[in-house]
Amino acid sequence: MTTDINAENLADSPFDLLKACIHCGMCLSTCPTYRVTGSEAESPRGRLYLMKHLDMKHRGAESGTQTNERITSATGILPHLDNCLGCLSCETACPSGVQYGELLFKTRKDWVSHPRTFWYPLQRWVKQLIFSHVLTHRKWLVSGRHFYKLLQRFGVFSWLKRLTWARSLPWVGPALALAPVIPHRYKPLHPGLSFGNTSGERVALMLGCVMDAVYNHVHWATIQVLVENGYYVYIPEQTCCGALAHHAGEEAIARDLAQQNLVSILHSNPDWIVLNSAGCGSTMKEISKQFAGDTVFEEKAKHFSEKVVDIMVLLTKKPLRPMKKRLSMTVVYHAACHLQHAQKVRLEPEAVLRQIPGIDLIPLSEPELCCGSAGIYNLEHPEISADIMALKRLDIIKTQADVLVSGNPGCLLQFAAGLRPQTTEEKPIAILHPIELLAEAYGYRGYLPQ
Ligand code: SF4
Ligand code: SF4
Repeated sequence: MTTDINAENLADSPFDLLKACIHCGMCLSTCPTYRVTGSEAESPRGRLYLMKHLDMKHRGAESGTQTNERITSATGILPHLDNCLGCLSCETACPSGVQYGELLFKTRKDWVSHPRTFWYPLQRWVKQLIFSHVLTHRKWLVSGRHFYKLLQRFGVFSWLKRLTWARSLPWVGPALALAPVIPHRYKPLHPGLSFGNTSGERVALMLGCVMDAVYNHVHWATIQVLVENGYYVYIPEQTCCGALAHHAGEEAIARDLAQQNLVSILHSNPDWIVLNSAGCGSTMKEISKQFAGDTVFEEKAKHFSEKVVDIMVLLTKKPLRPMKKRLSMTVVYHAACHLQHAQKVRLEPEAVLRQIPGIDLIPLSEPELCCGSAGIYNLEHPEISADIMALKRLDIIKTQADVLVSGNPGCLLQFAAGLRPQTTEEKPIAILHPIELLAEAYGYRGYLPQ
């Protein structure tokens, strides 16, 4: 028996959502991979069509029926879906309400075990190991940070960058290109610590993995600003948020981590669960979707999602207390995709930044465009990522701003490498998290470059 792809056959499938696409193409110009490749297969509309093919294949395999010969091989289709950043800019642009993210992550989950290349099973095993055994162990991450600093101090990265063979190694070459200069300051944070007056609203701070290992000072800025504004901040028992596993289609790992966080953080009775990392925030905000239909965890997951909030949104919940210091500088704000497109947080960060005395906020021409970071996308797809960063760079450099701020560690790493001056005439731009500017304005020191 063969099965054709048509609307009737797609009924009763989670992929019914695909039928919302009216093929208008309004998403194309906002899609970074389409912008840099010009290929329909690398566009949201093209990928939706490919997902439809895969769904038919998947359901054909499950029901024991054979799908039509016209359906292209999955091995030929999957790389186009793997090339998607998951930035969800297409969802924001779509007039028909296509839930592209739902479809993408469902497809990735269904096809994650299907080999694309000879090395794919090994790559997948390494990623699973990292997601479930490295990112979940803070001690390992902190030790990794200290080891990294040591290598940096002895110039190992500069030496490796000069070796052609090292630059051409997968993952290693792109990592060397990024190789951020990590600040010297590291003040450990761990579950059990708390700050501020206990009469304030209880804020559970999520530490994350990269955020704490590379941008630990951003957590301290977050704590300082929240305490200045009357909140009681504490560090609950927690593990990795599972965002990278979820985006890679490794749902079993993502769900296990989500469940651990759900149980331990709710047990600490927070009023808010605050994040300063857009990627982690978007995954934790959607925890209710992961547990939909689960008799034990569905209600708890909804309750949890309602409490998850980005730091810049929490700071708009009540008037900010007066800041003490004037920061005379021009600032450009890059809205992380997982904040503006996934969490639909668009106005709050700039509304907060405008309250900092002396800040002149300069708009970007294309504020919706991704920077090409997307979790570990810049390590897995370095060429496309670099092309996207080049587009973003043009938009930012022409503003001549002193500082670029963004609320996501992946974006901060991408900009630290991508906005390095390319000529002696080019003005250097400092890369900061928005909360660092607020901490400075409240009188805390050490966040601005000297
Ligand atoms: S999620 Fe981003 S990269 Fe993927 S299709 Fe949509 S706009 Fe393009
Ligand atoms: S904008 Fe929406 S409806 Fe139009 S092609 Fe893109 S996904 Fe389909």
